[in-house]
Amino acid sequence: MTGSALLWLRRDLRRRDLPALAAAAGRGAVVPLFVLDPLMWERAGAVRRAWLAAGVLAADAAYEGALCVRIGDPRDVVPAVAEQVGARSVHVSAETTPAGRTRDRQVARRLAGAGGELVATGSPYALGPGVVRTAGGAAYRVFTPFARAWRAAGWPGPAPDPPRLTLRFVESDPAARARLHEAVAGCTVPLPPAGEDAALRRCREFVRSRLASYAAERDRPDLDATSRLSPDLKVGALHPRTVLACLAGRQGPGVDRFVTELAWREFYADVLWHHPASARTDLRGELAGLSYDEVDGDTAQRVAAWRAGRTGYPFVDAGMRQLLAEGWMHNRVRMVVASFLTKDLHVWWPVGARHFLDHLLDGDVASNSHGWQWVAGTGTDAAPYVRVFNPVTQGVRFDPDGDYVRRFVPELAHLPAAAAHEPWRHPDGYRGGYPTRIVDHEEQRRVALARYAAARR
Ligand code: FAD
Repeated sequence: MTGSALLWLRRDLRRRDLPALAAAAGRGAVVPLFVLDPLMWERAGAVRRAWLAAGVLAADAAYEGALCVRIGDPRDVVPAVAEQVGARSVHVSAETTPAGRTRDRQVARRLAGAGGELVATGSPYALGPGVVRTAGGAAYRVFTPFARAWRAAGWPGPAPDPPRLTLRFVESDPAARARLHEAVAGCTVPLPPAGEDAALRRCREFVRSRLASYAAERDRPDLDATSRLSPDLKVGALHPRTVLACLAGRQGPGVDRFVTELAWREFYADVLWHHPASARTDLRGELAGLSYDEVDGDTAQRVAAWRAGRTGYPFVDAGMRQLLAEGWMHNRVRMVVASFLTKDLHVWWPVGARHFLDHLLDGDVASNSHGWQWVAGTGTDAAPYVRVFNPVTQGVRFDPDGDYVRRFVPELAHLPAAAAHEPWRHPDGYRGGYPTRIVDHEEQRRVALARYAAARR
């Protein structure tokens, strides 16, 4: 074996449990490559850029400093590097998003034109999107039967390391490396330690100390009860196969529930695979006539208050401020703030989805667009129209002592226990300068339900 093979890393920034690496190693000395695509880079937002950059630098360390980092359009850069190193094959984990699939088709065509090939092995999912089908061969649109079929299909264990691996060093573009370091240094939120070793430690720590209580506590944003593995899964520092393998030998409601949550990630990727346009538009055509408010005038001001965590609803504001402070938000609160934007402020979900993508470390087009659509009622929720989250009762129920609200909304720190959820009930509730409510939830709930009813007629 004398040739070289390119390993083009994208959403798989790791060395272990990587079938594409094994495939590349079977063809020759491996040149690991990351391409910083300026278009995608600018679009990602500062927080996601920083997390991606931290992941690339950690991957470089995992590949013993041999990761070649170049700037440019991958359609040009990948064939150029392949030619430079004399690699006939370029190995990737299959991309599953609409933009990624289109780009890969174009890269594959260019490589084929020069006598090379793009070889996809594996994907960022336990079962690649498009694999789980109904008995009649159709795609699923409802989660529960999908999850049942997904579990029944089973998934492979982690991929073994290649028996022999020779890494070949090829020079990076110094400007590309500088951009990675700048992105990390300029990050506005504290980044967790990046890379596969840190991710695996987080996973094992979760399994050891929080998995047993996960089913009971996963909806409580005041507790540190979930895995917080979503940023690692997003950049592929960890593959879901590895996470599932960490659960081996464990049983109980926590394990069951956690596997179900991983199935949501697989489900949304599958839905997006079959319906690429649903990244940006409603999956359910029957709500095409739903009326939304334009984001101008008073609505623009209310959306700005929502983004800043100043709606006057403590649970919503705590969530929006957690997003800005940590680049992450608890799932329960994501649902409540999404409901507030779409059903209390009557704004179309892509406006909120964009804000999330700008600020989440785990920002992912499939889980984000479909998480938003589930809440907005235009996506895969089986009972979508009547669900309007009450931002006050949700807070009292899932943050019963008000600790989550007080952690992120210091203006309410003087209110004890659940009183922090309802400052309007307390004579000195607004002493800390907390804003009053920008809308009346009960009134807006009625407006939302009337609009949904009208759209369905
Ligand atoms: P855990 O509770 O520990 O769950 C384990 C893993 O399962 C998660 O890391 C995630 O990969 C997956 N998972 C859990 N819940 C969901 C779910 N509802 N949908 C899809 N996957 C899930 N998740 C993202 O990864 N990226 C996003 O951009 C994103 N946007 C969202 C937007 C909205 C409006 C909503 C309601 C949810 C969104 N989610 C998104 C899903 C979910 O909120 C996060 O995956 C979860 O909060 C991550 O925290 P965790 O790792 O501690 O989750």
